[in-house]
Amino acid sequence: MPANKVATAPAPRAGWPGVGPQLAGRLAKLDIRGPQDLVLHLPLRYEDETVCVGIAELRGGAPLQVEGVVTDCEVRIRGRRQLVAQVQDATGSLTVRLLHFYPQQQKQLTVGQRVRLFGEARTGIFGAEMIHPRIRTVGEGEALPTALTPIYPTTAGLAQSALRKLIGRALDSHRLEELLPEAVRRMLRLMPLPEAVRLLHLPPPEADAAALVEHRHPAWQRIKFEELLVQQLSLRKAHAARRARTAPPLRGDDGLRSALLAGLPFALTGAQQRADTQICADLAEAHPMQRLLQGDVGSGKTIVAALAMLRAVEAGWQAALMAPTEILAEQHYLKLSAWLAPLGVAVEWIAGSLTKKQREAAIARLMSGESMLAVGTHALIEDPVALPRLGLAVVDEQHRFGVRQRLALREKGGAASPHMLMMSATPIPRTLAMSYYADLDVSVLDELPPGRTPILTKLVSDARRDEVLGRVRDACAEGRQAYWVCPLVEESEALDLQTAIDTHARLSEQLPELKVGLVHGRLKAEEKRATMAAFAASELHLLVATTVIEVGVDVPNASLMIIEHAERFGLAQLHQLRGRVGRGTAESVCILLFGNALSETARARLKVIYEHTDGFMIAREDLRIRGPGEFVGARQSGVPLLRYADLENDGDLVEQARDLAEALLREQAPLAEAIMQRWVAGRESLLRA
Ligand code: ADP
Ligand code: MG
Repeated sequence: MPANKVATAPAPRAGWPGVGPQLAGRLAKLDIRGPQDLVLHLPLRYEDETVCVGIAELRGGAPLQVEGVVTDCEVRIRGRRQLVAQVQDATGSLTVRLLHFYPQQQKQLTVGQRVRLFGEARTGIFGAEMIHPRIRTVGEGEALPTALTPIYPTTAGLAQSALRKLIGRALDSHRLEELLPEAVRRMLRLMPLPEAVRLLHLPPPEADAAALVEHRHPAWQRIKFEELLVQQLSLRKAHAARRARTAPPLRGDDGLRSALLAGLPFALTGAQQRADTQICADLAEAHPMQRLLQGDVGSGKTIVAALAMLRAVEAGWQAALMAPTEILAEQHYLKLSAWLAPLGVAVEWIAGSLTKKQREAAIARLMSGESMLAVGTHALIEDPVALPRLGLAVVDEQHRFGVRQRLALREKGGAASPHMLMMSATPIPRTLAMSYYADLDVSVLDELPPGRTPILTKLVSDARRDEVLGRVRDACAEGRQAYWVCPLVEESEALDLQTAIDTHARLSEQLPELKVGLVHGRLKAEEKRATMAAFAASELHLLVATTVIEVGVDVPNASLMIIEHAERFGLAQLHQLRGRVGRGTAESVCILLFGNALSETARARLKVIYEHTDGFMIAREDLRIRGPGEFVGARQSGVPLLRYADLENDGDLVEQARDLAEALLREQAPLAEAIMQRWVAGRESLLRA
């Protein structure tokens, strides 16, 4: 399939009885396009509904089940519209609160109805309460389930119960085939796939519950193996596809590169040199490079990219660098121009904010080959921009871009595939990177440039905001600068903006002696640029910002970072934000302000950021707390993740899968294809990006 076809998701397979178009659409969101996909849609986890506790025995901390009768139910309109019900059993009464609800749920909570509720309770001043428990209507004396209840990944408008029914039906009607040769299965002591799948969907009462929950059960082992096998097969396939494409071999005399290095005020770190060597070796080949340059914030990826781009110029080819935000792209543009202008190498700037005339002129210079380098935002991949001799495409913060955008950049050069260098400061554990981006080589900058001062991180309760203001005053009085990052308001972009504006107004009032600036995503590019420039030039003391400053911003004199409601941010995001300070020689501090009423998870996550400064460790902990499905960019990437296997703990399975993948591709290619198809049907084209 040609890459530009990727945009159209495969339609549901025709002839799926009993599934109408609306349901089919919802299922398609889960990549379920037929009965077989349903059978392979495995539980995310299990819940134990085999026991009920009395309402008076409810404790927070873990989900529990209670049974009782609805004594009251009303829709409250005051404040936020919500459904509030009371459920009573012999021991006490419980409030049930639904912040958004369907008529179906309202019906379930009719007064007099007997219900089982499953959820985590919390106890407030008005007694115990469950928010969004799972509700099941039951008759009096109805027996409890004897086995664990599977909980599936699902999507809006598709209830667990409906999905469970569909899966049950598919299990009866669709026979899943065992594709592994019998001898292999026995040798590896793997449970037959149909048996494993059935057991996971419908665990029998005698099944080892702990092993099921913890993914240790032999049925899970089989699924993990299958998943790893598919991954290995896809990796190999993607690699073969890439080797089949040709790219211009980029070799050069190092003339420009040495000149750049000679003009720098610093020497490359060992890690930068290693990455550069690896990149140059790839570039010299006639097949497209596909390399991820991974380095923590501040590790110096830009200079490595610049050297690679100069290699392209030395070889007579063009190079383009794409960054996700205009602020970041412009910083790159300014930095590259400053480095390269003395060498007589022009850099073109392509962004949405250019006037039509400027843009046309820049495009014309790139078209004619007068200019060899382009830096920009996604405006680079828009239609009129063509880079007829594109030899190298660099994508900064590549996880911010979708697969399609990366592919589009690759197509800019016309016939030959350019080499691709992707950069990321959001550290994705190497193993995870492999499963995201399939066929990818990785260079790691595991060493920070010398002379950095470590950042001191402090967790401070919101109640001590005044002290924090004092710190800002002190830092600025010493000639330093500070960032103040506004809390994220997830539900609404408008609120997000309002918060930023309010924060700016309040801080300007509370710190009248300081010059306080504001940047947020809704400002015009021109305004953003002006504010950033003023901050970089020390004309502003304090910069109030939304996460637009998350990536790339480099103002070494800023040594204090305050993040409000830090608990609302992702760990990777916090790490990135924190990385905006500690770039100069001054001792830097990052203050994480947190609101009261921190949840258990929020506490655990803040602890991680407090205890670790190494991005890789943070990423790993993040992964552990959130699970890979939620990991940054995974959703957009479209690439199937490892859902079940864990590359760190299932190392032996990985080896077996690798060996088998090799053997299968060598000796039974059609079988290998069939195994792969079954799990990644319709998605495999994305694996190549
Ligand atoms: P990141 O990897 O986060 O993109 P940058 O490329 O922006 O990092 O580099 C961060 C800062 O470190 C920049 O000011 C850059 O000029 C500087 N820098 C890069 N490499 C070195 C080095 N080897 N020695 C000293 N400073 C360096
Ligand atoms: Mg960078």
